[in-house]
Amino acid sequence: MLFEKMEQYDYEQVVFCHDKASGLKAIIAIHDTTLGPALGGCRMWPYETEEEALEDVLRLARGMTYKNAAAGLALGGGKTVIIGDPKKDKSEEMFRALGRFVERLNGSYIIAEDVGITVADMDLVHEETNHVTGISERFGSSGNPSPMTAFGVYSAMKRTALETFGSDSLLDKTIAVQGVGNVAFALCKLLHEDGAKLIVTDINADAVNRAVTQFGAKAVAPAEIYDVEADIFAPCALGGILNGETIPRLKVAAICGSANNQLLDATIHGEMLASKAILYAPDYIVNAGGVINIADELNTYNEARAQQKIGKIFDQIGKVFDIAKMEQMTPAEAANRMVENRMEESKARKIG
Ligand code: NAD
Repeated sequence: MLFEKMEQYDYEQVVFCHDKASGLKAIIAIHDTTLGPALGGCRMWPYETEEEALEDVLRLARGMTYKNAAAGLALGGGKTVIIGDPKKDKSEEMFRALGRFVERLNGSYIIAEDVGITVADMDLVHEETNHVTGISERFGSSGNPSPMTAFGVYSAMKRTALETFGSDSLLDKTIAVQGVGNVAFALCKLLHEDGAKLIVTDINADAVNRAVTQFGAKAVAPAEIYDVEADIFAPCALGGILNGETIPRLKVAAICGSANNQLLDATIHGEMLASKAILYAPDYIVNAGGVINIADELNTYNEARAQQKIGKIFDQIGKVFDIAKMEQMTPAEAANRMVENRMEESKARKIG
């Protein structure tokens, strides 16, 4: 049954990691290393069943192949999940044990943090292996990725504006932002500097107040963000928010935000947006700034170089829109097509 799952989307390797002394139960999934070593974060979550953990790691590892390839990185896709409660099950020995498992993979997988994991946890992994990014700045890390992710979203949004309105200027454009957390706050700053008008919402009142005070944003209740009139909607909080209930309510021309997996169903809801003539900038290309930034650590981190690479998200999104028009498909499908083409070309070069 496991091999059946691996065959379905062509996974290369799945490693079950068990360390009795620390209680570590982790799964590392390497989806594809055609373009380079698999890079992807480690998630710690109290999964109810092992099956659920396996499903999650497989889905996330494959997602990383697409994200890394679309970002133009010479990296494949992988992911780790640890079965456990990040609030009470962590220990130094657990992360050192995980580091030894990563080390044994000899560089075919590079670990980083994700949900439930901190920089301090990755520093412990780093005690045992160098195949790790997202560690403390004292070890040469790039630090908090959110401002870089925000710069990538901003670059993508300018290209989305160009496609939609014929100019990449965001001056006087109204942008509706869902969630003003780490990424979106930095994004709002860039948009405000460009003269955009902001409508924001968050379940955290302090986050909303900060955006209202600093950027003159208009605040709306969380449930109302789908009903506001705006030029662009930027989902920066949760996944699955573009669905059959919300899409009919939207009064925007385009969508471009940082949240992962915004479309509840990539095919159904991608098409639903297209039929309303709402241009969707695919999330995993829009939000690749964070991964491009940590990937730069692999050759001694340089902030200016990382930012320059992240700015190219403008062109990547442009390519997706071009493919979508040429092939008469949705941008979500076009993004996948762009990645699959890149991987096929790379495989052909290796064979040739
Ligand atoms: P964050 O936790 O700092 O911000 C998320 C914000 O959304 C919080 O302020 C939270 O209160 C708010 N929120 C939660 N539920 C909400 C709701 N129902 N309505 C309105 N607001 C709600 O997270 P972040 O690091 O800014 O990331 C934002 C999104 O971007 C996430 O989906 C994340 O997966 C994605 N992302 C982040 C990065 C990064 O570099 N941080 C990189 C890639 C993708």
